[in-house]
Amino acid sequence: MNALALRARWVLPVEQPPIANGFVAVADGRIVAVGKWNHGAGPFTDLGDVVLLPGLVNAHVHLEFSALARPLGWPGIDLPAWIQLVIAERKRSDRDPAASIAAGLKESLAAGVTAVGEIATSSAELYARSAGLTTVLFQEAIGFSAGRVDSVFADVERRFDAARPPAGLSPHAPYTVHPQLLQRMVDFAHRRNIPVAMHLAESREELQLLARGDGAFRDLLIMRSMWDEAAIPRGSRPLDYLKMLASAPRTLVVHGNYLAADEIEYIAACGGRMSVVYCPRTHAWFQHEDYPLRVMLGAGVRVVLGTDSRASNPDLGLLDELRFMVRLHPAVERQQALRMATIDAAAALGLNGSIGSLAPGKRADLAAIPCPGHDDPYEAVLADGARPVQTWLAGRPVGALPG
Ligand SMILES: [Zn+2]
Repeated sequence: MNALALRARWVLPVEQPPIANGFVAVADGRIVAVGKWNHGAGPFTDLGDVVLLPGLVNAHVHLEFSALARPLGWPGIDLPAWIQLVIAERKRSDRDPAASIAAGLKESLAAGVTAVGEIATSSAELYARSAGLTTVLFQEAIGFSAGRVDSVFADVERRFDAARPPAGLSPHAPYTVHPQLLQRMVDFAHRRNIPVAMHLAESREELQLLARGDGAFRDLLIMRSMWDEAAIPRGSRPLDYLKMLASAPRTLVVHGNYLAADEIEYIAACGGRMSVVYCPRTHAWFQHEDYPLRVMLGAGVRVVLGTDSRASNPDLGLLDELRFMVRLHPAVERQQALRMATIDAAAALGLNGSIGSLAPGKRADLAAIPCPGHDDPYEAVLADGARPVQTWLAGRPVGALPG
């Protein structure tokens, strides 16, 4: 047995109170003990003035855009216009998705992220270099017209079967997925007991398309020869989609920027089976209306954090996402905020039994953040600019990381 204890000024188990002068003992890639350091026998490493916490969990990302130096468009761009830039980006001849994915995984790891909920559009082979990060591959489907439902479903089913677990499905969004295709995917998720992630209630334009069948998304679909007049019944709402998604074993409602009060109540009533993924800096990029975080948390909805992609975010740093959120929503308790990037995000992905907090039996995915001058571990984690000095995957240090 390969055992080692890591001593730190602070250990932040997330599901237990912080431990001053604590340790995490690791054997064969798993945590075997967490507690107060007592100079016991056996090999140990003193990490010094750091906060040792579980590796962060980024619940929503599209790694294929990780090579972008800056987001597409401009602050306040409307979503349909931005989607056109994404389509153009995907057509660029010099694109190398495998290299982008590898760069995104490397960047995530350097930022203390050890698990991601990834929206995958290409084959699982591109993730071969995932280097030990937990990647939940949500295979994305896009097919708006009824005539495309069978072929798109067959393709996504094939890609899902080729992916290693843990994996799931992602019907992209109401403006790109026919309700019948969504139903097929939800039924499949139910049969296979897998999670589903869908962008929902993201923009005003989406609500308009659902309610009235017109607007910028209709124009875009016509331009792309994807429009199907009968696809969405007039008077539809995100609630209609939530009701379909509710029969999946686990659903990640991505964004939810414009969810109405009764829709938030509906999600809350689904309990742990449905989570909302908030991507604060992406929300800010589009200059959406104020995010209904207080209402969601007040209703008991599990809200977790994601970065979304570099097409709408300057980087994939989940800690910066967390800090941005705390600045924007100072009423959110710090413990709760940290849960949103760790154990709650793991639960949304269905992985809270194995990752997301420091507890015996869990995978030893860890991050160490410096805490010089901080007597409060949360302050150290939330301090601007503080970056992990070390990350571990299954107990294996991934090397001192550039500061
Ligand atoms: Zn997204």
